[in-house]
Amino acid sequence: MKTLRENIDQVLETIAAACARVQRDPAGVTLVAVSKTNSAAAVLEAVAAGLQHFGENRVEEAGTKIPIVSAQTDKPLTWHMIGNIQSRKAKDLPPLFQVIHSVTSMGLAEKLARAAVAQEKTVDVMIQINISGEESKSGFEAVGWQKNDAVRDQLLQDMRHILTLPGLNVRGLMTMAPIVETMEQVRPFFADLAALRQTLSETLHQPLPELSMGMTDDYPVAIEEGATLVRIGRAIFGERNP
Ligand SMILES: *Cc1c(COP(=O)(O)O)cnc(C)c1O
Repeated sequence: MKTLRENIDQVLETIAAACARVQRDPAGVTLVAVSKTNSAAAVLEAVAAGLQHFGENRVEEAGTKIPIVSAQTDKPLTWHMIGNIQSRKAKDLPPLFQVIHSVTSMGLAEKLARAAVAQEKTVDVMIQINISGEESKSGFEAVGWQKNDAVRDQLLQDMRHILTLPGLNVRGLMTMAPIVETMEQVRPFFADLAALRQTLSETLHQPLPELSMGMTDDYPVAIEEGATLVRIGRAIFGERNP
């Protein structure tokens, strides 16, 4: 078995190689190590190996793990929430996370905004887009946005509203690609999200600089298509125990 440090080196090399293929600066890609189901000790080992960004998908788990990790390192870490959020837990997020990737609905955006304001915080958020239209996936519906005016107008209207909410700093878009046979098959979905980001940015006159896309099975392609945040679990920490 490889060590955590070897896994991290391998992932960083793969990121650099993907960037080189499309003439991107690797500094423009942030590696978010998805530490869900892994222990605080494993996170601290990754911190010792140089990682600073970590992703969690459950509020309870993060609520125990983050304080343990924080108490044992001086390094400034950035915690990313990447999982589905129950509305009633929205208020628990701003104290734990600096970035929330999984803003999947208007109702949730409003709840997060209220919680952030009440706690006198501002949180960076990513709007999660259901780019494949699969029923199993959460997020704002976007299938057909390039051709279908109604879909595009709805997205623009929702984004305009979210951009007015206090306490939220909208950084960009996030998606999860469908599970496919080969990495190449996810390319159109990532390209579609990148195009949507550009259209929203231009139409709304907002920078929206971030694209959170790419996981263990598909991050090289995501980077080739413009990902600025890749969320990688298994390639770093190994297979998860169910
Ligand atoms: C678990 C998870 C990841 C990481 O998945 P790996 O396949 O382990 O890299 C990324 N994003 C989200 C939203 C996840 O839930």
